[in-house]
Amino acid sequence: MIQLADRMNRLGTETAFEVLVKAKALEAEGRNIIHLEIGEPDFDTPQNIKEAAVKALHNGYTHYGPAAGLPQLREAIAEETSRTRGIPVEPSNVVVTPGAKPIMFFSLLACINEGDEVIYPNPGFPIYESVINFIGAKAVPIPLREEMEFRFDLDELRHLITARTRMIVLNSPHNPTGGVLTEEDLQEIARLAQEHDLIVLSDEIYRRIIYDGYSHKSIASIPGMQERTIILDGFSKTYAMTGWRLGYGVMPVELAERIAQLQINSNSCTASFTQMAGVEALQGPQTAAEEMVKEFLRRRNVIVDGLNSIPGFRCLKPHGAFYVFPNITGTGKTSRELADYLLHEAGVAALSGTAFGVYGDGFIRFSYANSVDNIKEALQRIRIAVEKLSA
Ligand code: PLP
Repeated sequence: MIQLADRMNRLGTETAFEVLVKAKALEAEGRNIIHLEIGEPDFDTPQNIKEAAVKALHNGYTHYGPAAGLPQLREAIAEETSRTRGIPVEPSNVVVTPGAKPIMFFSLLACINEGDEVIYPNPGFPIYESVINFIGAKAVPIPLREEMEFRFDLDELRHLITARTRMIVLNSPHNPTGGVLTEEDLQEIARLAQEHDLIVLSDEIYRRIIYDGYSHKSIASIPGMQERTIILDGFSKTYAMTGWRLGYGVMPVELAERIAQLQINSNSCTASFTQMAGVEALQGPQTAAEEMVKEFLRRRNVIVDGLNSIPGFRCLKPHGAFYVFPNITGTGKTSRELADYLLHEAGVAALSGTAFGVYGDGFIRFSYANSVDNIKEALQRIRIAVEKLSA
C-alpha cells in the first residue's frame, strides 16, 4: 500500500461525478435514469467551432505551444474581455488553461500562504473549498441566503474579514443556486477589498447565461479593482465545450507570468488545436450560444413552475446559470436522503445541497441542461415519489 502525503487528507472532490457513476450503474441494471445532476450543457459544440479545430489539426496545430496560450487566442480573449468588462486588457494579462478549473488551483497556489484566510461562497462550487484546504489555508465560508435570492449579507462579509484574510472568491451567476450579485453588492465588496488589500477571484464562467433583463457586471470593471482581480472564464458553458478543456484567467501581468510558470510545471500548455477552436468561438457567429441561452430560459421556467407545484418543495426563480436549488425541508427528508431517494425511487439523478458545502443543507440541485420533455418527465416522477412519502 502506497503511503499518501498528509495533504491528500485535505483534498475534497466534486460529488457530481460520483452521482453520475451511481446513476450509470443503475442504468447498467436496466433502469431508466433522467440526468439532472451534471453541470454541462446537453447541446453539441457549434459546428463552426468543431470545423475550426479540424482545420487547425490539418494545419499543424499539433505541437506544444507557449505556456500562457497561443498569441491568437490571448489576443482574442483580451479583445473580448476589454469589450465586455469595459477595461483595458492586453494579451499579456491572459493565461489560457485546459478548462477554467486550473485557474482556481493556480491562483490559490500562487497567491495564498498556509494559514491565510480565503472567503468563499457556501453553498458553492466545491473545488474552492477543496483547494483552499489542500494548500493549507483556512476556508472561511460566507453563507448564501435563500431569502436574499442566494446572495450574501454584506454585514456578514464585513465581520468575516480579519487581518489574515487574503482573498474573496465570487461566482456570479452562481453554481449551484443560479444567484446573481447586484451592482450594489459588487460596489461594497470592491470597497472592502480595497480597504483590506484583498485579492478577488471572480469566477465568471456563467457570465453569458443570464436572464430576466439582468446583465453581467464584473467586479474588475470597478475603478481600482482590475489590479487586484483575477477573472476566471472559459468556453465550457457558453459554447458547450466541457470536454474540450479550454478556459482562461485574466489578471495583472506579473501574476499572469507566475501562473504561466505553474502551467509550465504541470500541463506545459493547453492543446494547440483546441485553442484555435477557441478563437473561432470568440470571433465567429454567436447565434448558437445565444440560442442555447434562450432554450435554457424556457427550461428554467418549466422546472421552477413544476417544482413549486410539488408538495414540500420551494424553488426560487434563478436569474442565471442552468441550475435550480429548491428548498426541500418540507419533504421531511434531509438533502442527501432525498437525492438518494429520488435516484432510486424516481430514477432522477440530482445532487444533495450538501455537496456544495454545509450551507447547502435543506436544498438539492437540479441541472436543467436537459430537454424540456425529460424535465417534464422528471417532474412527474418526482411528484409521484414525493407523494408516496406522505401517503
Ligand atoms: N466554475 C464554476 C462555478 C463551475 O461550475 C465550473 C464547472 O462546473 C467551472 C468553474 C469549471 O469549468 P471548466 O469545465 O472550464 O473547468
